This record gives sequence, structure tokens and C-alpha cells, in this order.
Amino acid sequence: MKKGLLFVITAPSGCGKGTLRRALLDEYTDIKFCPSVTTRQPRPGEVNGVDYTFVSVPEFMRRRDNDEFVEWAEVYGNYYGTPREDVEKALDEGSIVILEKDVQGARALRRVYPEGIFIFILPPSMDELKKRIESRGTENESEKTLRIESAHREIADLSDFDYVIINTDMERAKDRLAAIVLGERVAHGLYPC
Ligand code: 5GP
Repeated sequence: MKKGLLFVITAPSGCGKGTLRRALLDEYTDIKFCPSVTTRQPRPGEVNGVDYTFVSVPEFMRRRDNDEFVEWAEVYGNYYGTPREDVEKALDEGSIVILEKDVQGARALRRVYPEGIFIFILPPSMDELKKRIESRGTENESEKTLRIESAHREIADLSDFDYVIINTDMERAKDRLAAIVLGERVAHGLYPC
């Protein structure tokens, strides 16, 4: 039994999970985010080692072959992996750990960490999600279409998740996420200081 508590946040692209996670971490500084390792190029404002650990494809493959990932996947043509050592170390230290994954990553993590708490972020509507992805300006047309199609698939089955938050308003969604984290911490005897 690990000493810490693991939360996995999942959402289709464009649902604002990165923004939500950053808002939560700004307010609750004892929560630890373990960034994924990825071969994708950084977006403007993303910081290496904070949002993601950005590596080359050969470096990713070296780590994968060395069994350094709890799970890994190819998503939208880039590789993403969950670094085993970072997550295990943080949980062993008794930290509250947050991970951000796609649906397949969350399912794989559920098998490894069945005691984890899995949270799905939903957009207010599919129309709104489409608008958000289209206005983001970080993907080209085919990438946008792919993300919108994937969102429909990902939302089809939420039964594996412990909680669902509808992100209509960022502040309210953040408060709900914080309430879930606090409630689970208390339920597990990991009271915030
Ligand atoms: P983005 O490139 O938009 O940041 O992420 C693309 C997708 O990859 C998102 O759904 C994100 O949650 C997912 N993702 C990020 N890190 C990982 C990971 O380590 N494993 C898996 N399976 N998916 C990830």
C-alpha cells in the first residue's frame, strides 16, 4: 500500500484540463504534478519539466525499452509516457500526486494503481468543445478534426471513472476538482496541513 494518493485527470483535447490543473496547483502547493514525457514539440508557454518533459524520439524509445514508463502511448502522432520512477517516488513519499492522461492512459493506470482516483473532465457540449479546439490555434486543420473525432469516442464510455466534472466555468470546475481532492484526502486520512 502506497503512502500517497494518486489522482488521474482525463479529458478530451480542448476541455481545459491543463488550465484546471495549473489553477489547482497554484492554489494547493502541496499537490505534486508528475509531468508526462513526450516527443511532441512544446506549445508557447509550456515549460520543460513542468508541463511535460520534452524528449527526442530516440530518447523516448530508449526510456521505453528500459521499462521506464508505467504506460506509454502514441497520441496524435506523438509519443507520451508516464515516468515510473517519478510517480512511485512521489507516492512512496506520501505525496498527493496528479497525472494528466488520455482515456487509454487512464485505463492502463487503473490496472497498475487500482486505488487511484480517476476524474473525467467533460466540455459543456460537443459544439462548445469544437469551438474551443478551433479557436485554440495550436493545431492544423487535420489535427483539429482528429481531436474532435477522438473526443466523441472518449466521451462514449465514462464508466471507468470515479468522478465527472463539467467544465462550463473554469473557476467552478476548479472548485469542484479541489473539493474532490480534499474529500478523498480526508477519506484516506491524508489531511492537508
Ligand atoms: P497534448 O499534446 O494535447 O498535451 O496531449 C494529447 C493527449 O495525450 C492528451 O489527451 C493527453 O492527456 C494525453 N497524454 C499526455 N500525457 C500522456 C501519457 O503519459 N500517457 C498517455 N497515454 N496519454 C498522455
